[in-house]
Amino acid sequence: MHDLAMEDASITSIFAVQAAGAAARRVSFDRAARIAALETLRQTVLRYRPQIVAAMAEDFGKPAAEVELSEILPVVQEIAHAKRHLRRWMRPRRVRPTLAMLGTVGRVRPEPRGTCLIIAPWNYPFTLALGPLASALAAGNAVIVKPSELAPASSAVIAAILREAFSPDQVAVVEGGVDVAQELLAQPFDHIFFTGSPEVGKIVMAAAAKTLASVTLELGGKSPTIVGPGANIAKAARSIAWGKFCNTGQTCIAPDHVFVHRSVADAFAEALRKAISKYYGAAPKASADYGRVVNARHFGRLKGLLDEAVARGARVLQGGEVDEATKYIAPTILTDTTEAMGVSQEELFGPILPLIVYDEIDAVIARINAGPKPLTLYVFERDRAFAEDVIARTSAGSVAVNLTLVQFLHENLPFGGIGNSGLGAAHGHAGFLAFSHLKPVLRDRFSVLPILFPPYTGFVRRVIRVLTKVVG
Ligand code: NAD
Repeated sequence: MHDLAMEDASITSIFAVQAAGAAARRVSFDRAARIAALETLRQTVLRYRPQIVAAMAEDFGKPAAEVELSEILPVVQEIAHAKRHLRRWMRPRRVRPTLAMLGTVGRVRPEPRGTCLIIAPWNYPFTLALGPLASALAAGNAVIVKPSELAPASSAVIAAILREAFSPDQVAVVEGGVDVAQELLAQPFDHIFFTGSPEVGKIVMAAAAKTLASVTLELGGKSPTIVGPGANIAKAARSIAWGKFCNTGQTCIAPDHVFVHRSVADAFAEALRKAISKYYGAAPKASADYGRVVNARHFGRLKGLLDEAVARGARVLQGGEVDEATKYIAPTILTDTTEAMGVSQEELFGPILPLIVYDEIDAVIARINAGPKPLTLYVFERDRAFAEDVIARTSAGSVAVNLTLVQFLHENLPFGGIGNSGLGAAHGHAGFLAFSHLKPVLRDRFSVLPILFPPYTGFVRRVIRVLTKVVG
């Protein structure tokens, strides 16, 4: 499949080749061909397993088990799910005629958008490049994938996998940084699927406006977590500690900060410390299950946030140790933070967890609603009414109750943000729809609509009046 001539081809020529094939592909890239493409992707990914694990260890010390769980599993699951459901997803769906449309047959027929661009971030470099690719292929598109330059070893493995599995007129990979991303964004893609920060999301959407490409934006932001007075404290602590410190806190849906009810605050803090030492031992730096910050810039940013918080009166309840040489930041719990501190302002995206004690849930809800809409909201509470109330009175991309992170793995749930945290959704059927246009096809059988054509005689006007009365 590997076409050497295309390896060094320019972005414009790769795009042109993919775009030129769009019409033919709509016919030839049928269900069997899509399933074959998905299967090729699956097999190639599984063959590259050791290289994928090694690449992520190199990029940011990601533990092998976390690579298996959060990079390889979601991709193979996305592929398997699409293969299993593709027949149903692709089938034109017949709709019932409305009263005014009696005598017609309407169907909704998903068609591929055409040529799509996937821009991925570095933090789950593999899942967030190849998961959307599986959806795009299931939907019958040609795709250019741009992995993140900030995870270079992972980017190289993704490139190797895709070049081995596909010819570039079907799937091409273009590696590089901001310049390359911007050159790609200048091409008239049919759809752009972007995962990254809200700031860059705005740049992507502005670029898409120039060609009127549709967009899916999977963005980030601060995901608040509430531990209610009736929470199962030990379970909440275990779940939050895992959700926060997995991938060294560099997870879009990591619990960013925790609002904990005063009546359980001390018990929760203690349980959190216990969970951290159970997971990573007394010296997390020596743990094979704890990763590193991706680069010096992010290390400096996180250390700066920590130093500023402490200088302004925050207390380190646990952790706080940093090592610049290895880009290590210990799992850290902060208390006594204030709203003015950087830790309360920007997405933390690292292993720092502020605990904020609250008395009234209304104040927490007001605070959440005053900020940008989060990607995820976590609620820990045994009382269902408490959680329901929080869910009803806040807006978020998704909500998880009494667990963290695993909502990402549920193929029957759409995954996406709202407002500042994103636009559109991914995963399973939602992912297939993101890369499809729902084309309505209406066919006449015996409709009486021609009686409405001009000249608009008194009779026609009467019919229109009656029709309005009947349908209204
Ligand atoms: P980023 O926005 O800096 O980069 C993402 C991609 O955009 C990279 O491929 C990069 O090369 C490209 N890019 C960067 N600057 C660009 C520019 N000026 N023009 C065009 N392209 C540009 O994000 P990141 O640091 O890789 O990832 C972290 C962010 O992503 C966090 O905010 C996180 O919450 C978010 N995120 C969201 C999800 C999700 O599914 N919603 C998943 C992971 C990460």
